[in-house]
Amino acid sequence: MDKPYGIEQRDKKALTAGYSPNIRRFEITSIIAFTLSILWLGSKIAPGVVARPVLALAMFFVGALGADFLTGMFHWAADTWGTVEWPIVGVGLIRPFREHHIDQLEITRHDFIETNGASAFITFFFIIAAAQLPQGPGLTWQFCVGAATLSTMILGFFTNQFHKWSHESRPPALVAALQRWHVILPVGHHQVHHVAPYTKYYCITNGWLNEPLHQIGYFRVMERVISAVTGLVPREDDLGKKAATALVDDALKSAEAAATSTSSAPSQSGR
Ligand SMILES: [Zn+2]
Ligand SMILES: [Zn+2]
Repeated sequence: MDKPYGIEQRDKKALTAGYSPNIRRFEITSIIAFTLSILWLGSKIAPGVVARPVLALAMFFVGALGADFLTGMFHWAADTWGTVEWPIVGVGLIRPFREHHIDQLEITRHDFIETNGASAFITFFFIIAAAQLPQGPGLTWQFCVGAATLSTMILGFFTNQFHKWSHESRPPALVAALQRWHVILPVGHHQVHHVAPYTKYYCITNGWLNEPLHQIGYFRVMERVISAVTGLVPREDDLGKKAATALVDDALKSAEAAATSTSSAPSQSGR
């Protein structure tokens, strides 16, 4: 199938072959570290949850929004910048994103460790940091940060599992119900991201923030700032230089057209 902008992606076989035994060991270690650290943070937060259940629920909700935002940021960063040639980060974290745009069903063939190993590594450090906060009666902001972080990191860890389920033709019944209720990433919602050139709907925990961030042009603004500072072309490694440059030109033209029409438009007279 022809792709817009003359997109040239990397070799799928080489990307798949990049999943080495060393990466596998790194993922297993990360999942063990995640499990131990989340139990530690959970045990510190648990008495506060019993004592202040309404505040805890509110913080869990804030944490769910935080997870959606952070996974969107991470997905956008991995899709947009860097290359699989980078040591550790390139092969361990960026490679799966390149592979996923070429073959979106490959993720459904990954087992639990391959699906969730990288998320375990990233969340581990935030969990350890949050677990340093003292907890106890009267320590309200410490409890709020701890409870929101607990929620963000548990959902962050399972995000790629939710993402995998959104690509499965027959997910388990409970999962399908959670997708329908938009508690976790729904199937059709995520497919918006998979239309080339893959420039929107990056949030993959529950997708609640996708439309608001798209409406305000959040990721395009971030790209313009980073390009202005570093001179890098967004998505050059994912789409090839020609397509990535054409895409930037297109985005600039539509931003200019939008600015011109806003400044020259008469005041709204209704339809
Ligand atoms: Zn993507
Ligand atoms: Zn996907």
